[in-house]
Amino acid sequence: MRFTKLRLNGFKSFVDPTDLVIAEGLTGVVGPNGCGKSNLLEALRWVMGENRPTAMRGGGMEDVIFAGTATRPARNFAEVALVIDNGERLAPAAFNDSDHLDITRRITRDAGSAYKVGTRDVRARDVQMLFADASTGAHSPALVRQGQISELINAKPTNRRRILEEAAGISGLYQRRHEAELK
Ligand code: ATP
Ligand code: MG
Repeated sequence: MRFTKLRLNGFKSFVDPTDLVIAEGLTGVVGPNGCGKSNLLEALRWVMGENRPTAMRGGGMEDVIFAGTATRPARNFAEVALVIDNGERLAPAAFNDSDHLDITRRITRDAGSAYKVGTRDVRARDVQMLFADASTGAHSPALVRQGQISELINAKPTNRRRILEEAAGISGLYQRRHEAELK
């Protein structure tokens, strides 16, 4: 599954609707300090189901909503969409009926987050599992935050094991087992 587009609207510093087209090959993002490079990576992690405010450099989940500046008022929602090329039909069966997967997460002040795949309402869990199966996702070892290497070195063995399981692509199985046990 290849990411082809990231669409932001009201997310952190991206107050106006912004499309980031992700072409084949390597994509580099350059710009001066504070222009929003890290916010882009956070948007990617967020749309994949990140629910820890600390991973978003915020105090609460609503801190991802554009907070306003001296000249522009704050927004009351933030939305990020991720478009994935599904030409090879590698998505889980429930979502495997089109060439593109359009995954959207929207947070509204005082109303929490809502997720969609295409036009269908889905649970956070569905989105998290979709990415867990693809060995990517909010906790993916492919996304390396500043300071994360030293965290890994100092981590407790159980936490380090979780990272290795994610890298090995088996965390989706654990999540499924957990869901089955709850039912
Ligand atoms: P550096 O090169 O220093 O790593 P960067 O390009 O990664 O910088 P970011 O950290 O992505 O920059 O962006 C920081 C900017 O985003 C700051 O100007 C900050 O004020 C702004 N920002 C963060 N959250 C919000 C928010 N909720 N509303 C408005 N602006 C925000
Ligand atoms: Mg940065």
